[in-house]
Amino acid sequence: MTKAEPVVLAVDVGGTTIAAGAVTQAGEVLLEERAPTHRDGPGRAIECLMSLLERVRDGAERQGHALTGIGAGVPGPVDTAAGRVAEHVPHVPELAGRALAAELRERFGLPAFVDNDVNALALAEWRFGAGRGARSLIVLALGTGLGAGIVLDGRLVRGASGFGGELGHTPVKFDGPPCWCGGRGCLALYASGRGIGEAAQARVAGHADAALLRAAGGDLLAITAPLVFRLAAGGDPVAMAVIEEACQALGAMIGTLVNGLNPDVVVITGGVAASLAPLETRILKAAGEYAFPRALATTRVTIVPGDKRTTMRGAAALVFYETARGEEER
Ligand SMILES: [Zn+2]
Repeated sequence: MTKAEPVVLAVDVGGTTIAAGAVTQAGEVLLEERAPTHRDGPGRAIECLMSLLERVRDGAERQGHALTGIGAGVPGPVDTAAGRVAEHVPHVPELAGRALAAELRERFGLPAFVDNDVNALALAEWRFGAGRGARSLIVLALGTGLGAGIVLDGRLVRGASGFGGELGHTPVKFDGPPCWCGGRGCLALYASGRGIGEAAQARVAGHADAALLRAAGGDLLAITAPLVFRLAAGGDPVAMAVIEEACQALGAMIGTLVNGLNPDVVVITGGVAASLAPLETRILKAAGEYAFPRALATTRVTIVPGDKRTTMRGAAALVFYETARGEEER
């Protein structure tokens, strides 16, 4: 029998699910454990993530794998220089301000790295996915919210305090409506799952005969992004207008990215990406209205439907990225 190859422990902490796994250098997920984030009760997500990692560790050790590190992707910004999760963590408030990397290091006796989940996703697309071989890539992750990760000339851009890549909250309409982040006219209002749902709700509120409202059983809050996409595909003019605006907003953002940074690749992923895939031509047409043609011609834009597994592989990619960086600096 050949000796089992080394693996890293990787964990993606989401608002509803924590997914942990053992991942090889090639990005193969060998063991996987999942649990609801708040399984152990409110405020106990860290206990849940520690127990999932222990189960994966025990499983990997039983199979003879050497463990070389731990990576974690968490929602919200992370100040990696200070080694702390930021004070605002959507849906997992108990992570706020925690020195999670140090805690993992101590508990498992392995090198440990923690970063924002979309930064981890960007590293996954760069190392294993649509951005392989690129020097620069930007990942736009369209889920409930809208996050982004930026790799420029081989470096993940984290910014001065971990906010690098918060492109969901850059304005695409400077006099647009107020955003839940405190700004206004943000990209997330138009192109995230929550934004698409709420934009549709605003359009049909008070119109009991609107197709969207009828399809939602008359419950305004039951109008979600998947429903809007479904009705838009069926020709409902209100739903079509919302999706049209989503495509235009994404096009404006791609124009900004292409003109400002001219990356090799822009990857659009996340839960909403599958619904956007048939609209790729429409989104690129919008990008063409804002981008320098030569800049856009040299940036490949690709839509990749995403899942939790990719973020988990991203947490593993974070370990490989940081380990290589440490060796470079030595
Ligand atoms: Zn915002």
